[in-house]
Amino acid sequence: MILQNKIPHLFHSIFPEVLDIEFPEEQIATCNSCTLCRSAESPYINTKCCTYQPTLVNFLLGGVFEDDDIALDVGKERIQSQIKSRAGVTPYGIIPSAAYIFREKKANSQDFWSRPHQLVESIRCPYSHEGLCTVWKYRENLCVTFFCSSIGGVAGQTFWKKVNSYLKMAETSLAQYAMLQLGWPPAKIKTDAVTAVDFKFEEEDGIINDAKYAALWGDWIGREEEFYRSCFNIVKNIDAVTFKHITGQTREILEAAIRDTQKKFLLSSLPDFLLLHPGVIADKSNEDHVVLILGEITVKVSSALLPLIYSFNGKRQTVEVFQLGYNILFNMSDLVDELREKGMLIKP
Ligand code: SF4
Ligand code: SF4
Repeated sequence: MILQNKIPHLFHSIFPEVLDIEFPEEQIATCNSCTLCRSAESPYINTKCCTYQPTLVNFLLGGVFEDDDIALDVGKERIQSQIKSRAGVTPYGIIPSAAYIFREKKANSQDFWSRPHQLVESIRCPYSHEGLCTVWKYRENLCVTFFCSSIGGVAGQTFWKKVNSYLKMAETSLAQYAMLQLGWPPAKIKTDAVTAVDFKFEEEDGIINDAKYAALWGDWIGREEEFYRSCFNIVKNIDAVTFKHITGQTREILEAAIRDTQKKFLLSSLPDFLLLHPGVIADKSNEDHVVLILGEITVKVSSALLPLIYSFNGKRQTVEVFQLGYNILFNMSDLVDELREKGMLIKP
């Protein structure tokens, strides 16, 4: 696979340099048959991992409006209703509202797998509809680069974090560039990525301060959709040279970082089959946990995970064992990384 297959089409002519970067196919995070939905007990059955509100920057919102693809019709309506509510609606883009952040904090204070369904669904992405993304062609950086488990383990996640930083840098810089071109006063343009705390026109209970909102939008108030469309029409015509000029050294650093982390990702890709080292002994003297011992090396794991670990028998596919883990609401990524690093999981 190459990044061209992942990065939204809009960016292909803007930063072609990173498109040919290869990566191993992510075979564990099978989004069409989501790993978080394997067990009827999973609180994520109706949300997948879309328990997140992305920041859709101004030109991405404009892209949804300007695109005739009927797959974006629901997305258009969702954005229009956000504009009507004013919650999180800024010239930079639509950011998570103060009320959303409040709900998210409440959800995050509970263990990932033990959250009640209702709590999880209270933080469902506003663009998620019947398990599908309604703004897919214009989704933001994290939605492009998130994998619940990477086939490259830590090295894979490190690579995706760099790609994410690159996309976020591109989105932020291009959104500011569009504002500048539309005559936004430079002294008023924030040069970092923005969050609800930057604006303070809304409260956690969802109440909007209309005067502050009007001050933020200036002459564009009431014409937010038109503003977003205009931003898109500016960004869609940006070429690679202009993009390099806008993003300078930060882009160079991130591009090199993607290429650096790619090397380890390619080398770390999980083998199709793994075997629990025949020398590993399981000390089951404690009821709650088991200690795996290999010479001087030990790893403590929950007793419930032992059958999964024994499933690495050199005959069952690695991907299949990960899926068995998800069936019992367990993401094996960290454990597999640790067991490989300590020599307890080996190639057969
Ligand atoms: S990244 Fe993982 S959790 Fe998210 S949709 Fe894909 S398989 Fe499901
Ligand atoms: S924008 Fe799409 S992919 Fe991203 S969280 Fe929302 S529904 Fe999921």
